[in-house]
Amino acid sequence: MSPPVFRFAPSPNGFLHLGHAYSALLNFDRARETGGRLLLRIEDIDATRCRPEYETAIYDDLAWLGIAWETPVRRQSEHLADYRAALEKLAALGLVYPSFESRAEIARLTAAREAAGSWPRDPDGAPLYPGAAKSLPADERARLIAAGAPYALRLDMAACRRVAGLTGGELTWRELGEGPDGERNLVAARPEAWGDVILARKETPTSYHLSVVVDDSLQGASEVVRGQDLFHATSVHRLLQTLLDLPEPAYRHHRLIRDAEGRKLSKSTGSTGLRELRSAGASPADVRRLVGLG
Ligand code: GLU
Repeated sequence: MSPPVFRFAPSPNGFLHLGHAYSALLNFDRARETGGRLLLRIEDIDATRCRPEYETAIYDDLAWLGIAWETPVRRQSEHLADYRAALEKLAALGLVYPSFESRAEIARLTAAREAAGSWPRDPDGAPLYPGAAKSLPADERARLIAAGAPYALRLDMAACRRVAGLTGGELTWRELGEGPDGERNLVAARPEAWGDVILARKETPTSYHLSVVVDDSLQGASEVVRGQDLFHATSVHRLLQTLLDLPEPAYRHHRLIRDAEGRKLSKSTGSTGLRELRSAGASPADVRRLVGLG
C-alpha cells in the first residue's frame, strides 16, 4: 500500500500565526506517525492579496518550526490550466452559468429578498446568491460576454444534484477529527447550504473550492488535515469530487487556535504571529506548547 499523503496549504496573503503553526505541525506529526508524506501547497490564486514576501516567510517560518516537506512545492498560480480543464468538464455537464451582477447589485437583491421575508445564508454567514442569472437567455449571456462585462461562473447546485443523482443523504465524508458541532465519523454533506457558489471569474479560471479539489486529487492527498473553519466547505468539495470523478480523501478538521478574547486568529497576526514570537525569543518548542501540542 502506498504511504498516506498529507498537505499543508497556506495562502501567502499574510504572515503565519499560531493557527497556521498548529495546522502545519499536526500535518507534520501525522505524516511522521504514519510513515506518510507531507506536501506543501501555496494557494496563491488571489493575485490581489498574495505577495512573494509572504511566500518566502512561509518557507522560513515552517523550517524554523522544524517542519520538513517534499519539493517541488505546488504553487497554484502555475497550474491554472488544470483548474480550467476541471471547469470545462463541469461546464460540459451543463453545471456552470455566468452571473453578471456587481457586489452592490447582489447586496441590493439580497436586501430586497430579506425585506420580503427571509433569505438563507451559507454556513459562513454570507447570503446565498439571490440573482436570476441562471435563467438569462443564451443570446443575452453571449451579448454581455461579447461586450466585455465582468462575470462570475457559478455552480448550478440544483443541476448538480440531478446530474449526481443526489436526493439527500447519499453524499458523505469520513471525518477523523471533529466539526464545530461535534460532527464526527461519517458526516452527511450538504452542498445545497452554499447555494450557487462561485467556481471562477472572468479573469481567474478558478476559486478556492475548485482548485482545492483538483490539487488534492493531483497531489494524491489521502488525509486532509485543516481547521474547523473549513469543515462546512467540505460539503462543496465532496460534491465537486463526485462530479469530477476524483478520489475521496479522509478529512481531519481540527479545533481553531483563538486569541485571549476567543476570536479566531486573523491575518494581522500581532502577538500570535510566528515572526513576533520568534523575535521575542520563543523557541519552536514554545510554539508547540502554546498550541497545546506539548
Ligand atoms: N488555503 C487555505 C487557508 O489558508 C487552506 C485550504 C485547505 O487546507 O483546504 O485557509
